[in-house]
Parts: sequence; C-alpha cells; structure tokens
Amino acid sequence: MRTSVTTLPAWVRDSLRCPACREPLSDAREGDHLEALTCTAAACGLRYPVQGGIPVLLVSDASPTATPNAPAAPATPGPPDAPAAR
Ligand SMILES: [Zn+2]
Repeated sequence: MRTSVTTLPAWVRDSLRCPACREPLSDAREGDHLEALTCTAAACGLRYPVQGGIPVLLVSDASPTATPNAPAAPATPGPPDAPAAR
C-alpha cells in the first residue's frame, strides 16, 4: 500500500486554479511524480511546487517559468559599503 501521492483526485485537480490569474493549471511531472503545477496562461506562467503531494498554490512560493530574457546573473560587484553620508 503506497502512501506517496502522485496524482490528485479529479475533483481536487479540477478545482485548482492559478491564484494569480485564475487560469487552469497543468501538471509538471517528473516521470510518475507530480512535481509542480504550472499556470497555463502564457502571460502568467507561474510554477507552483508540489510538496508531499500537496500543491502549494501560493504566489509567494511560486516561481516564474516564462522568462523570455532572463539575465544570467551578471557578476556586477556593487559598492562594498555605502558612503557614510549622515
Ligand atoms: Zn497564472
């Protein structure tokens, strides 16, 4: 008897919507393992993690998937310390 949840009940899955834009979510699977739910809206494209079979539909925990021009984190060394202007 397996306890790991890899699929959500249909009624649960059907009621899930992106909290940011209310569009349906698509499954992001790693093999049989449901890893995340991805918003189907191209303009939104948030990816919600699934932790222990429980989708975490929090915008604050979501990560964007639509990154058309994602900068590759250029190494821009900022000033080590701001000038002590007081
Ligand atoms: Zn969305």
